[in-house]
Amino acid sequence: MDHSAPSASPAAPFAGAQAGRPGCPLSNLRDKLRRVGLRPTRQRVSLGWLLFGKGDRHITAEMLYDEAMRARVPVSLATVYNTLHQFTEAGLLRQLAVDGSKAYFDTNPTEHHHFFVEGEEELMDVPAEGVTVMDLPEPPEGFEVARVDVVVRLRRKDAHRRA
Ligand SMILES: [Zn+2]
Repeated sequence: MDHSAPSASPAAPFAGAQAGRPGCPLSNLRDKLRRVGLRPTRQRVSLGWLLFGKGDRHITAEMLYDEAMRARVPVSLATVYNTLHQFTEAGLLRQLAVDGSKAYFDTNPTEHHHFFVEGEEELMDVPAEGVTVMDLPEPPEGFEVARVDVVVRLRRKDAHRRA
């Protein structure tokens, strides 16, 4: 199970980045990992590169695993899961529970809400200030509200008509 071919792998936009030029996206990514206390291992940097290199997005472990395979990043699905959870615990990602079967991870960890298109498994951000949450229930004794995630579930109008 040793995948660590010397950096000649095709996955290696990473290879040249050892120099740590300032302003280089890869050294920025390494700094980002270090700032939250994660050692910038090759796998974390490779997966972080795929995750954070394309702007704000919502992704499942399976989707990231597919991207890693296409980019020839040698990781297992278990590593992808672990890395996503490490990034989430470190505050780089936010985990979103949309339905029971899948966890989505959001590369924008700030508080915002989502539209979810049923049947298409697509998550979209609700524009800022698009949701006002009022009259939250009083949390039970000893608890406080950590955050409120609103998922507004959508379906296509025409699909509804056909049903
Ligand atoms: Zn989002």
